[in-house]
Amino acid sequence: VKTPKSVEAKKVTEEERIVLKRAGKINPRNIEEYIALDGYQSLAKALKMRPEEIIAEIKESGLRGRGGAGFPTGLKWEFTMKVNAPEKFVICNADEGEPGTFKDRLIMEGDPHSVIEGMLIAGYAVGANKGYVYIRGEYYESVDNLRTAISQAYEYGLLGDNILGSGFSFDLTVRLGAGAYVCGEETALIESIEGKAGRPRLKPPYPPVKGLFQKPTVVNNVETFASVPAILLNGSNWFKSIGTPSSPGTKVFSLCGNLVRRGIVEAPMGTTVADLIYKYGGGIEGGKKLKMVQTGGAAGTFIKAEEISAPMDFDSFKTHGASLGSGVILAIDDSHCAVDVALNLMEFFAHESCGKCTPCREGTRLIVNMLKEFSKGRGSHEMLDNLYNVAYTMQNSAFCGLGQSVPVPLTSLLDRFRDEFEAHIDALECPSGVCKFEKKK
Ligand code: NAD
Repeated sequence: VKTPKSVEAKKVTEEERIVLKRAGKINPRNIEEYIALDGYQSLAKALKMRPEEIIAEIKESGLRGRGGAGFPTGLKWEFTMKVNAPEKFVICNADEGEPGTFKDRLIMEGDPHSVIEGMLIAGYAVGANKGYVYIRGEYYESVDNLRTAISQAYEYGLLGDNILGSGFSFDLTVRLGAGAYVCGEETALIESIEGKAGRPRLKPPYPPVKGLFQKPTVVNNVETFASVPAILLNGSNWFKSIGTPSSPGTKVFSLCGNLVRRGIVEAPMGTTVADLIYKYGGGIEGGKKLKMVQTGGAAGTFIKAEEISAPMDFDSFKTHGASLGSGVILAIDDSHCAVDVALNLMEFFAHESCGKCTPCREGTRLIVNMLKEFSKGRGSHEMLDNLYNVAYTMQNSAFCGLGQSVPVPLTSLLDRFRDEFEAHIDALECPSGVCKFEKKK
């Protein structure tokens, strides 16, 4: 596996690195190299603090969940800390399945101990003594580096009983996912760890109160845990000085699509789509023109080339229509067709729908069937309306985040490229020449 393309980006740009500060600099399979660069200093500091103080610091930092939803991390920890239960858990969601997202993979490959340290701090803060990393089975190098890091942490007394003589004990286990997108949804993931089929549960109750084996459980993303040690070591004010007021810190972005330089880059929250494409990504490859950008992952919104001044932070969706999500920038050049892009994406969701609820199972199938008709030159204005109707139904009645978020990319494409969809109905051919019409009208 070829790692940090971001190293390549580093040559031409100024990156702000918190999460990736050691990636590419240390041997991730040698705990001493991690320790030499402040590693486990934050844990040592945390173990001398009261759990309430740690949670107050994380709350004050404004750290928000890096999986995509941006829920305040300190608040989540506080929910779990406050429940009086004999057993609690910490889970790292490393089942990175969002198409175009590969940031967690590179964090785990490049600096696995930062994730372990973040989980240990969370465990101590909420009163949990057992943790799981639920990781994509296909992430061979991440799994390997993580397992090596865990066994080294046990050897050095940083996992197991009475860590650093503090009286706090914590065990960590790795569980492999088997390739289902829905298992990245936290309750499906929990079911999977419990040995059941990975299907989502109804929320509420949320995992911080009732999670793994019905016990209070903190579930955070890899990047979220990896952000924690630096915050505790440098203080919440330092963290808040980076990024935007409502989305402090940095974000690890996955740059993909028709870019000159694809890879990951860590930049402050609020960095614009334009900077991510042109400054870090080197612009559009092959001298072509940018047509659209999907922001935030498969479940994120599409914006037009004219909208790339949008900042990438948790509030951008409200102000600029771009979604931060898991931090994907998928650049699409002008040789692509909006209908074809939509079809490709919706086929992914139809394939990954777990089938538990009717709106998602049937809705994704209906959308794919309609888009196929458009791509063959057999779409209609009624079908266009129906795409919105199905999207509306799914958004309001699908059981989990998967089905509820499918309409987001679909309607953003329909809204922004309506003329192109209409051209597939009224014109004799696909404007981009991508869709091959079966029957000319
Ligand atoms: P969500 O808003 O339901 O929940 C976000 C987190 O906050 C969860 O951990 C949830 O337990 C917690 N939470 C929310 N309300 C709470 C409450 N009242 N009390 C306690 N805890 C509460 O979102 P979600 O369905 O978990 O995630 C959706 C996001 O996942 C999307 O933004 C999408 O971008 C992202 N996503 C990421 C990937 C990836 O590979 N990183 C894949 C698919 C989707």
